[in-house]
Amino acid sequence: MAGVKLEHVSKIFDKEVVAVNDVNINIEDKEFMVLVGPSGCGKSTTLRMIAGLEDISDGKIYIDEKIVNQVPPKDRDIAMVFQNYALYPHMSVFQNMAFGLKLRKYPKKEIEKRVQEAAEILEIQPLLNRKPKALSGGQRQRVAVGRAIVRKPKVFLFDEPLSNLDAKLRVQMRTEISKLHNRLETTMIYVTHDQMEAMTMGNRIVVMKDGFVHQVDSPLNLYHGPVNKFVAGFIGSPSMNFMSGVIQKDNGLFFDEGNIRLQIPEQYHQKLSQYVDQKVYFGIRPENISGSKFVQHLQNPAKAKSMLEVVEPMGNEFFLYLNTGSHQFVARINEEEDLTVGKPIDLVFNMEKAHFFDATTEDRI
Ligand code: ADP
Ligand code: MG
Repeated sequence: MAGVKLEHVSKIFDKEVVAVNDVNINIEDKEFMVLVGPSGCGKSTTLRMIAGLEDISDGKIYIDEKIVNQVPPKDRDIAMVFQNYALYPHMSVFQNMAFGLKLRKYPKKEIEKRVQEAAEILEIQPLLNRKPKALSGGQRQRVAVGRAIVRKPKVFLFDEPLSNLDAKLRVQMRTEISKLHNRLETTMIYVTHDQMEAMTMGNRIVVMKDGFVHQVDSPLNLYHGPVNKFVAGFIGSPSMNFMSGVIQKDNGLFFDEGNIRLQIPEQYHQKLSQYVDQKVYFGIRPENISGSKFVQHLQNPAKAKSMLEVVEPMGNEFFLYLNTGSHQFVARINEEEDLTVGKPIDLVFNMEKAHFFDATTEDRI
């Protein structure tokens, strides 16, 4: 049983670099929590403060309801897996996995048992006598995870553990880490800059930028209800399209971006009424744009005639790169349209799925 709580935690390096800014996160026992955000946003620093590898400038960190600000790393009952694995090259896989337990003076029999158990979970028994240099990247990664498992820690911390693997292996390992979490039922805190990893692995996700936490939520809540333009653009691939324009009132509400004009469904009227004649950002995900054949049955389709600049056939769908004349945007279309590059094409925006953002604060309206 171990939750982890951060209360108003900040980290200031060299009296001026605010790496982590008043962060509040409450990680439940047995939860898989992902910290995600662009490089330099403070993810590793946050994780290292939880591990005790970095002093806290301000605030409190609790593990298992006890304040650990002054507790040295070795007494926090956590295990950390790093991006570069940090295996000892002169030791065998067995010795690498046993090392931490040996330091803690565990009996030989217990060490043997735990290493075998972990090796079985990770399917690396045949590798126990090898040296790290005789292992593939994926195998080294497993050994690094194994070294954490044998400790039976209250909390696992992962700092971009899959970044050094090729794309295919990364996808495979991410399911394995998810399975491991289901099997061990231990709290895990996982850092990545990859929103896809965050979405597929996290029970909940902390989205960070510039040392601030922008949103903490489940993957689907982040996707469908981003609190601001940053979260909206960061989560999802290809990213949400944004267009700046003006809200107009004229027999209903319209979003006018200069070249296209879209009728806004009633569900938004109340919130947007105070934005009439003002600039806002309109956001729409690529999959919420359809070819005009597909929506022939709609009474008032929000049509947007745009120049088709590039077509990427993905097999099951097409990525279309388009230009309204004022804004570029991407559409994911799965029906066969007449796709001629360099010609205008009529697409339909599913306005029920649109998002609007305040032009100044960039908060979702
Ligand atoms: P992330 O892991 O999200 O890429 P980090 O937590 O490593 O980001 O870094 C956050 C910010 O803190 C960055 O601006 C980085 O340059 C700065 N930083 C990290 N470690 C140190 C350090 N030891 N001294 C000074 N600045 C640091
Ligand atoms: Mg980092």
